[in-house]
Amino acid sequence: MKRQLTAALCLHLCLLPGYALAGKEGAASGDSDIVDVVLIGGGTMSVTLGTYLNELEPDWNIRLYERLDGIALESSSGWNNAGTGHSAFCEMNYTPPTDDGGVDISRAIGVTEQFEISRQFWAHQVERGILPDPNAFISSVPHMSLVWGQENVDFLSERYARMSQNPLYAGMQYTEDNATIAEWMPLVMEGREDGTPMAATRMDLGTEVNFGEMTRQMAENLARQSNVSLTMNSEVRGLKRNNDGTWRVTVADVSSGETQTVNSRYVFNGAGGAALLLLQESGIPEASQYAGFPVGGSFLYTTNPDVVSRHTAKVYGLAAEGSPPMSVPHLDLRYLNGQPTLFFGPFATFSTKFLKEGSWTNLFESMTLSNTWPMMKVGLDNFNLVQYLVGEVLQDREDRLEALRQYYPELNPDDWQLWNAGQRVQIIKKTDEGSKLQFGTEVVVSEDGTMSALIGASPGASTAPPIMLNLLTRVFPERVESDAWQTKLQEIIPSLNVKLADNPELLRQVRLNTSRVLELDGQEAFVQANLPGGDESSAAQGGDDSSEAAKDATDPVGGTVGDVENADEEGRIESATDA
Ligand SMILES: Cc1cc2nc3c(=O)[nH]c(=O)nc-3n(C[C@H](O)[C@H](O)[C@H](O)COP(=O)(O)OP(=O)(O)OC[C@H]3O[C@@H](n4cnc5c(N)ncnc54)[C@H](O)[C@@H]3O)c2cc1C
Repeated sequence: MKRQLTAALCLHLCLLPGYALAGKEGAASGDSDIVDVVLIGGGTMSVTLGTYLNELEPDWNIRLYERLDGIALESSSGWNNAGTGHSAFCEMNYTPPTDDGGVDISRAIGVTEQFEISRQFWAHQVERGILPDPNAFISSVPHMSLVWGQENVDFLSERYARMSQNPLYAGMQYTEDNATIAEWMPLVMEGREDGTPMAATRMDLGTEVNFGEMTRQMAENLARQSNVSLTMNSEVRGLKRNNDGTWRVTVADVSSGETQTVNSRYVFNGAGGAALLLLQESGIPEASQYAGFPVGGSFLYTTNPDVVSRHTAKVYGLAAEGSPPMSVPHLDLRYLNGQPTLFFGPFATFSTKFLKEGSWTNLFESMTLSNTWPMMKVGLDNFNLVQYLVGEVLQDREDRLEALRQYYPELNPDDWQLWNAGQRVQIIKKTDEGSKLQFGTEVVVSEDGTMSALIGASPGASTAPPIMLNLLTRVFPERVESDAWQTKLQEIIPSLNVKLADNPELLRQVRLNTSRVLELDGQEAFVQANLPGGDESSAAQGGDDSSEAAKDATDPVGGTVGDVENADEEGRIESATDA
């Protein structure tokens, strides 16, 4: 209790406007301090990167600046995203049909491998006391796919046939039996009598994650470190390169408008939707390749206990033909503010803001001479997307309830309210083959590695640990390869450098360990029942010699991490134009 009070007091002090814990900075140049790393934004990406860096280099001075008055209040807030721990168990957009009638599961495998890295990263932080309360941020919630119509049933059947051969999906169940579907998802089947063929899959290793709570717990730990400062109500407004290669970061107090500057050896721009604007501000040549287009999301939600208690899963459907992956409908059990809640959506919204709390001018500020035409061209070439967005924006409450009725035929409209969630900024990237619309994310790193940014359509907070690991390999390649960092990274991620799909024994160990440490109800027993047996005592310690044997020495951070870029939490489509 005493520890919690001290931590709370410390966090409170550290989060006061303009307050920064004194670090061990070297001599300041002029009015500026010199620090090792500036993290822009207090979302899950910056805080995850800060947590890695603080473990890898505990003496580095790190400063995090957040423009709002708290941590994780934009997309990372529990209410501003869908809270799905994306592991590709239920998201059918990761497994497209192939021309020969098959299903390609390669992308799903990449996503599942990434999520296993996240589980290990979080479990490690729980073991270190950095995430002291796993129940507050992660819960075991089965992930299910649901389809209707014979063609879709055939697709799901084929998807299941392919996935069930891979150890990553051991234990997945498939049914075309309506009684079983009704048992798995009662609300979905109540009042459905039309005899349309239906099918569903179920994976009991699914998770519901409150990314906001997780990020706050990690930020509290950072705030306790004497060499790290977290400063709220502070907006980064200027990024200029100094002659010595460091960056001069101008930070404004959002209430008074007063500015201060800090010099930093490295800057990570984790400003979420606003990252594109700051990337442009940095002036690095890489920035000129990008434009951005904002698309928000909203959900219908209910907290009515009679309804919520009859839906204990995340049920993902298929997106309507021609619509983008972000439109995949899902009916999810969530845990928000300690209360079970159902979310249905997302419904796309349009605003010119790049952040929920951003400015209406954001889109126009981001338009430059070099990116405006490619942006318009992509719009013309992706007319189906434009049509989809217009259709979504024009929807009224009855249209949205009608969409929900597909998943909950007997809903009571009075139970459901609309909630505006976070903003995503889709990237439009200029390439040699023309401009491409990307629904995923991109880690952008300056040639010398000192300026890095994560831009794109909300990569999925689920993948923050592998994305930030990928960023570390780009920004600090020598350090990542050094014995010192390799040893620590291996402690954080026991399956580092290993493809778990090819190593069922290690997969079993890491899943058993993360299920136990993250206190995921029923998941340890599920793994024991569905993955081939092994030495469970070593599993509890997070790995043994078999992990050594399984290493893929060619890739310092594993064959699984390379897929992270462009991995959108809802899937990705790209379309090339000849602009
Ligand atoms: C509708 C929707 C549903 C989603 N569903 C899921 C899901 O189910 N599962 C999943 O894994 N992911 C999901 N995501 C994605 C997930 O929310 C994001 O990937 C993740 O939160 C991004 O984290 P971030 O740290 O990059 O950005 P953010 O959380 O947005 O943080 C950026 C921070 O930077 C601050 N900032 C901006 N500009 C400045 C500045 N100039 N100076 C200082 N601070 C600044 C902002 O205030 C903000 O706090 C969803 C997103 C949306 C919008």
